[in-house]
Amino acid sequence: MATKALLCGSCGFGSDEKRCVKCGDPFGEIPAKLCDSCGFGSDGVKCIKCGDPFGKVPALLCGSCGFGSAADNCVKCGGWAS
Ligand SMILES: [Zn+2]
Ligand SMILES: [Zn+2]
Ligand SMILES: [Zn+2]
Repeated sequence: MATKALLCGSCGFGSDEKRCVKCGDPFGEIPAKLCDSCGFGSDGVKCIKCGDPFGKVPALLCGSCGFGSAADNCVKCGGWAS
C-alpha cells in the first residue's frame, strides 16, 4: 500500500501547495506517493521537503512528472510505490 507524500505547513504554504515537488511547476495535480520503506511508520507523515515531522498538505506532481507510471514511483527514492 503506497503512502501519500506530505508537505509541512510551511513547505506547502499558499501557492507552494500546488507546486510540483519534483520540478517546481506551479500546476501540480497528481498526488505524490511514497514507497513502503520511505513511508514506513512516522516517516510517512514527515514533510518530504524539509523533514518536518508534521506533514499535513498532500504533495503533488505536475502532469509531466506524474505522467503514466511515473505517478507510481516513490517521490523520495524513485522505487515502486503502488
Ligand atoms: Zn513536475
Ligand atoms: Zn517542510
Ligand atoms: Zn521510497
